[in-house]
Amino acid sequence: MILLNPKQEAFNHLDEKSREIMKKTINHFESRGKKKLKEDYNERVWYEDLLEFLKEKKIFSTLLTPSKYSIDNPDARWDTFRNCDFNEILGFYNLSYWYTWQVSILGLGPIWMSKNEEIKNKTAEFLDNGDIFAFGLSEKTHGADLYSSDMSITPLGDGKYVADGGKYYIGNANQAAFVSTFAKNSETDEYVFFVAEPGHENYDLVQNVVNWESYVAEYALNGYPVTDREILSSGEEAWDSALNTINVGKFNIGWASIGICTHALYEGFNHAANRNLYGKYVTDFPHIKQMFVDAYARLVAMKLFSQRASDYFRSASQDDRRYLLYNPMVKMKVPTQGEVVIDLIWNVIAAKGFEKDTYFHMAAIDIRALPKLEGTVHVNMALIIKFMSNYFFNPGEFESVSKQDSSNCDEFLFNQGPTKGLGKIQFHDYNIAYNSIDTPNVNIFKEQIGALKELLIHATPDKDQAKNMDFLLFLGEMFTLVAYGQLIIEKQNMEDFGTDLLEQIFDFMIRDFSKYSLNLYSKADTTAKQMEYCLKIVKKPVTDKDSFNQFWDNHVYKLKDLYEMNA
Ligand SMILES: Cc1cc2nc3c(=O)[nH]c(=O)nc-3n(C[C@H](O)[C@H](O)[C@H](O)COP(=O)(O)OP(=O)(O)OC[C@H]3O[C@@H](n4cnc5c(N)ncnc54)[C@H](O)[C@@H]3O)c2cc1C
Repeated sequence: MILLNPKQEAFNHLDEKSREIMKKTINHFESRGKKKLKEDYNERVWYEDLLEFLKEKKIFSTLLTPSKYSIDNPDARWDTFRNCDFNEILGFYNLSYWYTWQVSILGLGPIWMSKNEEIKNKTAEFLDNGDIFAFGLSEKTHGADLYSSDMSITPLGDGKYVADGGKYYIGNANQAAFVSTFAKNSETDEYVFFVAEPGHENYDLVQNVVNWESYVAEYALNGYPVTDREILSSGEEAWDSALNTINVGKFNIGWASIGICTHALYEGFNHAANRNLYGKYVTDFPHIKQMFVDAYARLVAMKLFSQRASDYFRSASQDDRRYLLYNPMVKMKVPTQGEVVIDLIWNVIAAKGFEKDTYFHMAAIDIRALPKLEGTVHVNMALIIKFMSNYFFNPGEFESVSKQDSSNCDEFLFNQGPTKGLGKIQFHDYNIAYNSIDTPNVNIFKEQIGALKELLIHATPDKDQAKNMDFLLFLGEMFTLVAYGQLIIEKQNMEDFGTDLLEQIFDFMIRDFSKYSLNLYSKADTTAKQMEYCLKIVKKPVTDKDSFNQFWDNHVYKLKDLYEMNA
């Protein structure tokens, strides 16, 4: 079973303590039940009881304290392998629960990356005490443009400063123990990260800018006193820790999306498979079967890709920065696929998706948030495109990366180094994966990759096109598909989840490749030669009704009544 089923999952892939954390968390949500979940969601009740549960079981302190800083807790470590499970569980039950964890992770990033040992030890104490954290990067008027940050910190001499300015969209900033705040030194113009505390009288919690269970704050620092002891990093180190923290946060976004889609799929499938119209079950209609097969294949692909990306993240080093392509894909590709999955389910369950008692009602809203967090889709695509040339035309030699499921502390995450030099990063040859598989749909997909490469070689985008994000977007989508498929094949070669599933995944991948190519074809400034290659990319997956029906019986219809949240 690839998809999470909280009522059946034994978490045997984890050690005993981690297994206990996952099971107790599931038990917490299941024993509260769906009625309470939805009441609190609909009434936007702050999740005090969840925070109490997390504190009592010391969950954040176990999962988010690097071993070196742990306070008498032999199980404390930052372990991306088990954190993926926790991400998925929180998303499965409620995105706002996931969000309080996510922004704590972001808030902890600049702290664990800093050289300020006093604050790090204090942070470990706060975690041990059950506290949450916040990441104050965004500002109201600047959005993605971090260079323009206005929050300032002015030196007063003797290691003292005063901070002034506002931050916007900052989760947990109502109750965090520390709010890692990004600013500029008003005298040197250098970037700086320091910690602020919401309880201070010069910390003004202006408002919650969203109408949600979570608190996404606007806060202002008015003559807020800071000393060297609260400074986390300055200059390039501060800038790098902002971006390197987001690299960590990006990875969680895809997992939240997987959790949401999985719960929504169980709920939607149960509804459709038990609903009888004109003497037939809804799941008997051929178009409904197609939608569910697509939703299932896309969701499984989201998870397989993200699992494999976790291997590259955990094994990364200064010499192997391939994660800088795969993480933005977990951030961008996976949650946009999540939106497609939710749309497919919604088209099946129709009016049911509006009902206040359903999980789906919140999934339909919350799934839209994920592509917009930790940089928008466009910002991440702009990043991904930087890797395209080396990926296709200048592969490097790497030892193959095995499944990274050890109980190690992922120290590299807090020691990622300078964020420059992206264009120089090399990847292993994607042909190794693709040439290892000889099945009909994968072979068609290989032809599409060949045609895309021909386009890049013989009808290379000119200077203006290379600067035009509108043009590059669809090229980037096609490149992303190639790397997505590559990691899924690697996962198949490691775990053999079945050729029928792989073929069904490549069925939608071929259709998506064709769609993106047609989009590129239709752009205003695509040349005649480029249009020719675009048409070569357009292909149709193999049609085999028997295989489709077998897939439906063996994989998709098995979802019926498999999981239902406790009332
Ligand atoms: C619910 C929620 C919670 C959040 N929590 C936090 C938090 O805890 N801490 C925090 O610091 N921030 C947080 N954020 C802020 C979030 O990271 C920002 O939304 C994000 O940085 C994008 O900024 P923006 O939405 O203002 O879009 P803008 O930056 O205003 O972008 C506008 C448009 O321009 C495009 N664009 C911008 N720059 C580029 C580029 N270089 N290349 C191509 N296209 C570009 C964007 O894609 C977008 O379509 C949160 C946001 C939300 C909605």
